[in-house]
Parts: sequence; structure tokens; C-alpha cells
Amino acid sequence: MNKHIELRHDWTTEELFTIYHKPLMELVFEAATIHRKWHKADEVQLSTLLSVKTGGCPEDCSYCGQAARYHTDIQVQALLPTQTVLAHAKRAKEAGASRFCMAAAWREVRDNRDFDRIIDMVKGVNDLGLEVCCTLGMLTEGQAKRLYEAGLYAYNHNLDTSEDYYDEIISTRTFDNRIQTIANVRKAGITVCSGGIIGLGESNKDRISMLHTLATMDTHPESVPINALARVKGTPLEDHSKVDIWEMVRMIATARIAMPASMVRLSAGRMEMTESEQAWCFLAGANSIFTGEAETLLVTPNPAMSDDLVMLARLGLKPMSR
Ligand code: SF4
Repeated sequence: MNKHIELRHDWTTEELFTIYHKPLMELVFEAATIHRKWHKADEVQLSTLLSVKTGGCPEDCSYCGQAARYHTDIQVQALLPTQTVLAHAKRAKEAGASRFCMAAAWREVRDNRDFDRIIDMVKGVNDLGLEVCCTLGMLTEGQAKRLYEAGLYAYNHNLDTSEDYYDEIISTRTFDNRIQTIANVRKAGITVCSGGIIGLGESNKDRISMLHTLATMDTHPESVPINALARVKGTPLEDHSKVDIWEMVRMIATARIAMPASMVRLSAGRMEMTESEQAWCFLAGANSIFTGEAETLLVTPNPAMSDDLVMLARLGLKPMSR
């Protein structure tokens, strides 16, 4: 693993566009080579994601089944009791997870008792020896500081898509709001998990633009989730086409080349991928997946950890320890 190569933060969109459009075999070979220089290529981080508060969200993200305004089959669930969350985290650790992410369907964090309970959850999960991650919506600098002091390791706040395409997908907040929360997280000393979704109807230019925003940050996000749209019935994007696997591979490979030190997370969409398609994603530089006992990723289907462990073993990969 060569950590002495300088990370680049001055990528141009043209350079990333050229990388994304390279002949596929050449692109994957280059990404795989870089992956091996920066990471143990036989290790995949297993992260477990638990929805600690589900549905009823006031935002209008077009892809999301948790937005209150869409008529989906999602069951609304108030904030889970802390002990329930800690029991999930303990089981996730015993099953092999090294990172535990808690998600709440909020527009933003409010300074109320629910936030106090989240702080307790963060402390409890941290005490179990897991990397703790949260995704709770927009966050002020002061709230980020409280989370950091409780032991939060990472905060997820995806860009979702490009700045230009953002309004087509979400109208209740702006791309700049996203950037501001990421800056607040960074200032507090928490690591950043930020990526996006493909299959929203965006162009390749939008995809490159989103990666460009991430890859030109002063510090690259330590974790970059690449999601394929999980089409949820009742949302405006329910009839969109399934994302082509080679487009996922191109996104993952371009993210790996542009942000070599980051964990590139193969996130939503794995249920619609075969094992060999996922193997291509690992070869292209993905080194993290969401998995767990619930067989859901928030509110969409996801492989079970037992199946994932079998897949990894078959591919000669192993779970990364913390
Ligand atoms: S993605 Fe998050 S913010 Fe957007 S509607 Fe869903 S839960 Fe709310």
C-alpha cells in the first residue's frame, strides 16, 4: 500500500470525464491497480445500517420512500429505544460488522430530547468498539461538535447528484445546504461519508460533476457511497429504468481513481445485481458494502450478511476488521 503518492484535489471535470469514458477494461485495470496501491484489495468493510427513525420525512427527495408526501408502503416508525439500537449493534458486531450506521428520516437535527437520545446511542455503539456513523439530515456546527464528543466517527450526507441536476430531484433544500453540513461535520473533526445515486435521470456530465465536487474537496470524503437507484413504488422515480451494471462499474472505478485513499462503498442496488456483477464492482475498487441481519437497506431490500459472507468467501475476499 503506497500512502506516499500525493492525493490530488485539483481534478478538472474534463480529466474525470476522460477517465469515466475510457475503454471499460482499461478503466477497470487502472482502478484495480490504484486500489491495490492504497488498500488491501482482498478486504471489504462490512457496514450495518439501521433505520432508527423511519418515514414521515418532510423532505421531497424524489427517490425516497420515506418522504411523507409520497404514498409508499413504508411503515412509519418513531425513534427506536436506545437499548433496541444497542442490541442491534451488538449483534452486527458479533456477525462481523466493523461499522454501524444509524439513520433517521429527518430534514435536520433539532436540539431536543430525540437528539439527546441519539447522543446516547452514539456513545453506546462507540463503547462496543464499532465505528459509529450517523445520517440525520442537516446539522449545525454545534450539533456536529456534540456528536464528535459522543464518539461519532463518521457522518453520512450524500450529495445525491450534481449541483445542476439537484433541483430536479429535491426542491426542499439546496445543494449549498448539503455542502454546508459537510463543512460543519469536517470542522467538528468527524470523518465525512458522502457520495450519490445514479439512475435518477441524470446525464453522464452530472455524474462526473458530482464526483468532481467530492474529489476537489480540501479533504476527500473518507467514505464515498455509490448507489444505484432502488426504485420504490409510490415515489416519482418508481418507473425509472434499472441502472446498467457497467455504469455502476464506471462510477466506482472513476471514484477509486480520483479519491484513491477513500473507502468506495457499493451501496444501494445490490439486490438487483448478480454475484458476478458485484465482483466487477469490487475489482473496480469498491471496498465496502452495507449488509446486516435485517435484509433491508433502510427501506429497500438488501442481501443478508450470511449470504454476503458466502459471496465474499467465494470471491476470495474477507471482512475488514476495524
Ligand atoms: S432521503 Fe432523507 S431527507 Fe430525503 S426524503 Fe428520504 S429520509 Fe427525508
